[in-house]
Amino acid sequence: MTVVSMIRRLFVPSRNGRRAFSRIAFIGLGNMGGHMARNLVKKGYKLTAFDVNAAAVSSLVEAGANGASNAAEASEDADMVISMLPSNQHVLECYTGENGILNSVRNNALLVDSSTVDPAISEEVGIRAKRSGVRFVDAPVSGGVNAASAGTLTFMVGGSKSDFEDAKQVLTALGSRVIHCGNIGTGQATKLCNNMLLAISMIGTAEAFNLGERLGLEPKVLASVINSSSGKCWSSELYNPVPGVVENVPSSNEYKGGFGTALMTKDLGLAQSAATRTEASIPLGSLAHQIYRATMGHGFGKQDFSVVYQFLKGKY
Ligand code: NAD
Repeated sequence: MTVVSMIRRLFVPSRNGRRAFSRIAFIGLGNMGGHMARNLVKKGYKLTAFDVNAAAVSSLVEAGANGASNAAEASEDADMVISMLPSNQHVLECYTGENGILNSVRNNALLVDSSTVDPAISEEVGIRAKRSGVRFVDAPVSGGVNAASAGTLTFMVGGSKSDFEDAKQVLTALGSRVIHCGNIGTGQATKLCNNMLLAISMIGTAEAFNLGERLGLEPKVLASVINSSSGKCWSSELYNPVPGVVENVPSSNEYKGGFGTALMTKDLGLAQSAATRTEASIPLGSLAHQIYRATMGHGFGKQDFSVVYQFLKGKY
């Protein structure tokens, strides 16, 4: 911690109540974070950006942000910090490491972690943040890279009602829905439950259409019956895994874009850890995790998660 930031932390008074955030630090400028940070710059926020990938920082600087050389430096003048990092260890390092956010950030700043991580990691960062005199919410997102670019993400937020209301002021610039799920960690918990159900229903849809095809059914006819019957779900109706059944979804574009199989597999791993810790029984979630791990093992990791249909067909 620099002398300047120590003095700031001692003398900057707590600021309670709603107020506008003027200086934002953004950490993690990858597929999602790059678009989110750009959207904040476009909306007029004064942004300081950091990523371990220097090229990602340069690209944000060209878009109008200031660059920083580590997370602590990016955060020292910020009244809000938003992070969008790959997974558990990156979030811990970025918040609590030697050059981490908690080593420099101003008293009462609001920290918003939008990465998808284990709810226990959010709880731990929340405790460390409180000890350092700063506020923390977890705010993972649903919606992929296109929603990040269009500013139409859904945020699932865990934290106090007051911190949620403050975070919402900025998150509405990045998403069309910002939902308060409960205390710190519940944003992540909500995201993991949704994605586990999505994985299970996608595999179920892929199985049903694979069986239908083996039985000689036309996929579009089968879809029209399922989607007006009790088997209907989001995967069968709006994101069908069979090429050509629904236009403009990844399955109709060689499974490009969308939500990667590697990311779905990661989320299922987080759900599995959370279930083990809480002794919840998730037999289908565990099986879905293994099916997606096998799908990845056969080289489908970078394709959209609906590619599990091709895996079940033995197309590898
Ligand atoms: P990504 O790998 O493209 O980006 C992560 C960025 O973090 C990279 O640029 C990396 O260099 C940077 N980074 C890693 N460690 C760092 C550190 N210590 N300090 C600073 N920067 C660091 O990942 P993404 O696709 O942008 O996803 C980010 C998060 O959002 C993940 O948790 C993911 O599960 C979640 N998510 C992704 C999608 C999607 O469709 N891509 C959708 C919903 C949620």
